[in-house]
Amino acid sequence: MASAASEKRNIVVIGGGIIGCTSAYYLTRHPAYDPSKHTITLLEAGKIAGGASGKAGGLLALWAYPSSLVPLSYRLHKELSDAHGGEERWGYRAVHCGQVDCVGRHLDAIKSDGPTVEGKEDRATKGEHGDLKDDGKAAVSLQKRSKDAMGRLRAKGVPEELDWVSAEGLKSYDEMGDPSTTAQVHPFQFTTAMAELAQDKGAVVRTNASVKSINYTSPSNSAVDSVTYADKETGKEETIPATDIVLAAGPWTQTLFPRAPISALRAHSVTIRPSRPVSAYALFTQIRLPENFGARTDEVNQGKGNKKTFKARRSEQIVTPEIYARPKNEVYACGEGDHLVPLPASSDLVEVDEARCQDIVDYVASISDELRCGEVTAKQACYLPNVNASGSGGPLIGLTGIKGLVLAAGHTCWGIQNGPGTGKLVGEFVFEGEARSARVKGLDPRLVL
Ligand SMILES: Cc1cc2nc3c(=O)[nH]c(=O)nc-3n(C[C@H](O)[C@H](O)[C@H](O)COP(=O)(O)OP(=O)(O)OC[C@H]3O[C@@H](n4cnc5c(N)ncnc54)[C@H](O)[C@@H]3O)c2cc1C
Repeated sequence: MASAASEKRNIVVIGGGIIGCTSAYYLTRHPAYDPSKHTITLLEAGKIAGGASGKAGGLLALWAYPSSLVPLSYRLHKELSDAHGGEERWGYRAVHCGQVDCVGRHLDAIKSDGPTVEGKEDRATKGEHGDLKDDGKAAVSLQKRSKDAMGRLRAKGVPEELDWVSAEGLKSYDEMGDPSTTAQVHPFQFTTAMAELAQDKGAVVRTNASVKSINYTSPSNSAVDSVTYADKETGKEETIPATDIVLAAGPWTQTLFPRAPISALRAHSVTIRPSRPVSAYALFTQIRLPENFGARTDEVNQGKGNKKTFKARRSEQIVTPEIYARPKNEVYACGEGDHLVPLPASSDLVEVDEARCQDIVDYVASISDELRCGEVTAKQACYLPNVNASGSGGPLIGLTGIKGLVLAAGHTCWGIQNGPGTGKLVGEFVFEGEARSARVKGLDPRLVL
């Protein structure tokens, strides 16, 4: 394939999530890319970052997996940010990360009189009036605590700046990463920026372009030939020639390439504007909800129009939302996945279960006044792509045995972290026929196809 770099190439990337967009970006930055000979077309069924890549948390970590890909991708995130103003453009920054064990409080345990305001006067007033009470004790932020209480929190390993998790319920803090090993981006902003930067160097990005089929050379089906897609607005179908196809359709990968062992898991998330700016921490929580925390009504779609409702108990349950503080006064939180609703045909048809989003809001509110008194700015859901193959935790990146077909999918819960590394490797697979920047033999799709 290396010699083919000098030939005319029509490269088609399928999917405008982070993997498709970083692939398009690095294809346009590959030394062999020559816009006078090569075309790069990205086809996205809906809008760029309309799926998980626009709704993920955005945590980046050197301690993520797989270890063959993580260091490359973590480094590339920093390089991309330095090269394109990522701090401002997509919220790149280093963060602290820890696991917290907490006991949640009843949501009516504290009477809130609206967003809290940072400042000593405000804190003192709230303390005096006792309107931040729980079980007769002042439930206030770390700075409001006595020296004695602060000493106890320090002994539990709780950093002083983590003052937006209620001190009462905070049982322990275990550091998982620090700003030298952990960072974050805003996934939607990052992904859309990658698409724009690829366009700047000649890639063509088509949204509302739903790929109907990958067409192979006949009669052997041993190489790719073209791609047929439908314009969602006009319904018109078009077939474009392809010498190379990068299949990066995330959880939808199987609809175009049934042999790929990739499944989908739905997950809900919310964003909250906290009542005051909070420090840069990403938290993996374990929260024991108090007795009688309340029940919620679940509606389960059983297919064919049948919906069943039932009450879910939340009393004394242990829940584990992840909470990521973000720049520009935003906090993101997500809950656990579910298989209640199968993957819909496209990202705009994803069913958002209001009750599940409210659960996440309630859980995080039970341990933080700043989140409880904040404003919920988004309730959303998306599907994460998992790999179902023994011996492979995913992702699958590389050649498929079909000439010209490169697979880049199945990034599970670390697709944002591993996006740039994947894109870089895709550029190498397409133009050089092999991975150069990392040893990723364990991610070879041919091992599981
Ligand atoms: C709640 C949650 C939190 C997460 N948090 C993090 C995190 O903090 N850090 C991290 O590293 N990762 C995180 N992830 C994982 C990450 O979001 C995913 O691994 C990643 O977004 C997958 O990217 P993708 O491009 O493969 O898939 P997607 O983002 O799903 O993109 C696939 C795209 O392909 C398009 N497509 C599908 N079929 C077709 C077709 N026929 N024609 C054209 N286009 C098509 C879709 O419309 C979609 O836009 C999180 C995931 C979830 C669900």
